[in-house]
Order: sequence, then structure tokens, then C-alpha cells
Amino acid sequence: MSEEIPGYWRNYIGGRWRDAERSLSVENPATTHALAAIALAGPGEVEEAVAAARHCFEVERFGDMPGAERAAMLHRVAVAIRELTDYGGRVACLENGKTLDDGRGEFAEAADYFDYYAGMADKLEGRNIPIGEDYLDFTVHEPYGVSAQVVPWNFPPSIAARSLAPALAAGNTVVIKSPEISPLAVAVLGEACDRAGVPAGAVNILCGEGDEAGAALVSHPGVDQIVFTGSVPTGQSIMHAAADRAVPCVMELGGKSAAVAFEDVDIDQLVASVRNGIFFNAGQVCSAMARLLVHRSRYEEVLDRVTALSEGLTIGPGIDNPDITPLISAGQLDRVEGMCTEALGAGARAVTGGRRVPDTVGHFMQPTVLTDVTPDMNIAREEVFGPVLVVMPFDTDEEAMALANGTDYGLVGGVFTQDIARGLRAARQLAAGQVFVNEWFAGGIQTPFGGTRRSGYGREKGQEALYNYLQTKNVAVRL
Ligand code: NAD
Repeated sequence: MSEEIPGYWRNYIGGRWRDAERSLSVENPATTHALAAIALAGPGEVEEAVAAARHCFEVERFGDMPGAERAAMLHRVAVAIRELTDYGGRVACLENGKTLDDGRGEFAEAADYFDYYAGMADKLEGRNIPIGEDYLDFTVHEPYGVSAQVVPWNFPPSIAARSLAPALAAGNTVVIKSPEISPLAVAVLGEACDRAGVPAGAVNILCGEGDEAGAALVSHPGVDQIVFTGSVPTGQSIMHAAADRAVPCVMELGGKSAAVAFEDVDIDQLVASVRNGIFFNAGQVCSAMARLLVHRSRYEEVLDRVTALSEGLTIGPGIDNPDITPLISAGQLDRVEGMCTEALGAGARAVTGGRRVPDTVGHFMQPTVLTDVTPDMNIAREEVFGPVLVVMPFDTDEEAMALANGTDYGLVGGVFTQDIARGLRAARQLAAGQVFVNEWFAGGIQTPFGGTRRSGYGREKGQEALYNYLQTKNVAVRL
């Protein structure tokens, strides 16, 4: 059956939509039907895109555009994204499996990033540093030049906008490598930039394979800065490529984040957070609530409530706005189910779920709650990236913190308690870049986000992100 969606399924280079010799088929994970064929970029297209971005930066002097003009341009992009939200949201839903509401939400968020960083584009002010009467000393913030941005498949348009908007606000030009498994919604973002009159070459978007176009882009000598969001192994290979040329990076990597529910937890509040924390986007969220650590005195009660929640969730194609949508691919479903099977073999127990949904065509995984998990098991340590929650009991606050911090990751963490002093103490002790107290995912585009330890370094979102894309120059004048 054909489900083809019309659109901008080419590469966007130097302000033009360009075909390529090869193409890639994009499937709907809910039905496995083909949605579109998109032009597949290789090293040749990477060469052209970096050249276009360099030309825009060096010859057209994109970075010299007055801040107020850059701000106006970014606001125009936000308007264009909002005009494309219904269409783009449907594209994101169909290619990614996510709900229609979440697809639209991603475009709404993408627009918000452009408005937010527009507000900062004319406020990139330096400092005057008093080093003595005989000197005038001041700092200026300068863009790096060409920013290469490699985007993962779980939230392509909002993650792309999260890096693109501050990079442009700071005066950089950009080459985006969209995720090859779900590249279409990022192309819609390109259409918004085009409609908004972003200068040719300031934004370039390529759909290419990671080990081909991706690897060519991050090792290209014309790239001055790299932003990567994705898995730890890919991040490590990009860090090597960047180290070879001493190029600065931002690394937004994976997580195995824990929520800690103390004995005074408000269970309704906690269950609402579990609903979003692990089942939103079928758990394919870097900052998902992968583990729930519960004080032993409330453990059975919480487990019953979380099990009832999981068993009451609806499962279906994203276009119907169910609670649980399909995973992105057959490979991802095999991986998630395989990790559950391994855990069950190692002594874990599936209170509910634990395997794929039988007799369906799409890549549907059952919402899963696992107990009897020990901290040394893979399922307690490694990212699953699916709707799989590990629930573990603890007896003391110290044990809770040791369990929460007992993986190599450190992306986010959560605390659920009615005692705010205890919540703040735990927030200090959690090894994480972002801590939620009494609501998982509390925060927004204004709040800095990023990891510690193996979850990466650098911060996206908020004012902090702007400084990923700027370098400080000090000017000292002898009077
Ligand atoms: P991935 O690492 O497989 O791929 C991410 C991107 O890197 C894709 O565009 C891919 O084509 C590209 N890529 C692959 N090999 C490359 C190479 N050698 N050189 C350059 N680019 C290459 O990750 P994924 O499976 O797309 O995404 C899931 C992972 O992303 C999870 O680990 C998740 O936790 C992480 N993630 C992190 C955040 C965050 O903000 N911290 C957000 C979303 C996803």
C-alpha cells in the first residue's frame, strides 16, 4: 500500500534543493510501508555543503550581520515553522512513529527555540576589564565559523532546531546531517529557513548515512565546531575526529537516568511522572526515567500502581494518538526485546510486558515493568531506549544515591519527596546535568540541558547553549 507523503525530500545546499545520485527509502514504523524516497548525500554533497557554508561565512560575512537583523531573521524562521507545524507534525508522526500531537509539539518547540535565541542575537555583549589606568581592555564574542550538527532519530526537528537556532544567533553558518532513518521532518525545517529568507549557505541540510556523510562531515577541514546528539560510541568516534583537528565539540549522549521515590512520596504525582518519564515517545528519549528507585516501605504500593498504569496504556500507530507508539525500526525492536530477554534470563521478573506486541506489522514493544533487577545487570546499567522501566527498592538515602549514581551515565535524575530539604540534598548528590524534583521533565527550552560523565559535555538549551557557538577574544590596548 502506498502512503507516500509529498515534500522537500532532497538535500538543501547553498539555498537550493538538490537531488543526488542515490536515494534512501523512509518507512512508516507503524505499518512498515514506504513513505518517501529522499536524496542520499555522500562525500560529494558534504564537500558542497561545507563550501557553501564557508562561502556564506567568509565571503558573504554572515557573522557580521547586525544582531538585530539576525534576530529578525530568526523570528521569521519561527513564523515559517509555525505555518508548517500541521504538515511537519504529520511528517514527524509518520516517519518516526510518534503521536500526531507529539509531532506537532516538536515543531512548536522548534519555533520556540528560534524565538528564544532571536531574543539573544542582539545581546552578545562583551566585558570591559579594568587592568590599570594605562590600558583599555575589553572582550568580544565571535562565532566559530561553520558548525557541523549531527542529529539523532528520536526528536529530529526539535533537536536540529535546538542547535541550529543558537548557532545562527551567534553568527555561525551550519551544516546539519539529519538522521538517515527519519530525515524528512528536518527537511521541513529547511523549508522554513528557505521561506524565511535565511541567506543561501547559512543553513545546509544533508540526509546521509552516519559512517559515510556523517563521518565525512565531522572530519572535514572546513568545519570549525561540532555538535553531536546521539549514542556514546558514535560520540566517541566523532570526538576522535575532532581531536585530530582540535575542533571543539558539544556532546549530548545517552543516559540511564533514575527517579528516587522517598517514603514520603506523593504517589499520584509520581505515577503521572512515570507515565511521561518512560512511556513518552515509547521510551526513546535520552532523558527517560529508565530506573525507578523506591523506598522499601512504599515499594509494593508503587509497583502495583505503576503496573496498573502500564497495563492500561493504549498501543497503536502515532496517527491515532495512542499512549504507546511503535519503536523506530525492526532493529530497535530486536534490541529492546533482546535486552529484556537477557534480563529475564539473568533473574529479573517482568511484572508486565517484556516482549514485543504479538501479531502486529509495526515495531511495537509492550510497555514493560521489570523487578528483581540487581545493579550489576546490563538492564540496570545500559540504555534500553524503549518503554522499559526497571523498579528497584532501597532502604536508606545513602543506598538510593549510590544506586542512582551507580552507572557510567549522568544525564538527568529525579527526586520525589514532600520534604524539600531532602529533595534539594538529593539534587546536590545526584550525578546529572539536570535534576527534576517532583515532576519528571520539569523545565523547558530556557533551562540548560546536558550530561556529566559518559552522557557527554557542554549544555544545550537556555542561555548556556549560546556560548557553545561563540569564542571570546580579549583586546588589550596600551593607552
Ligand atoms: P547514533 O549515535 O546511532 O546516531 C546519531 C547520529 O549520528 C545519526 O545522524 C547518525 O547517522 C550519525 N552517525 C553515525 N555514525 C557516525 C559517524 N561515524 N560520524 C558521524 N556521524 C555518525 O544515535 P541514534 O541511534 O540516532 O540515537 C539514539 C542515541 O542518541 C541514544 O543513545 C540517545 O540517548 C542519544 N540521544 C541523546 C540526546 C541528548 O540530548 N543527550 C538526545 C537524543 C538522543
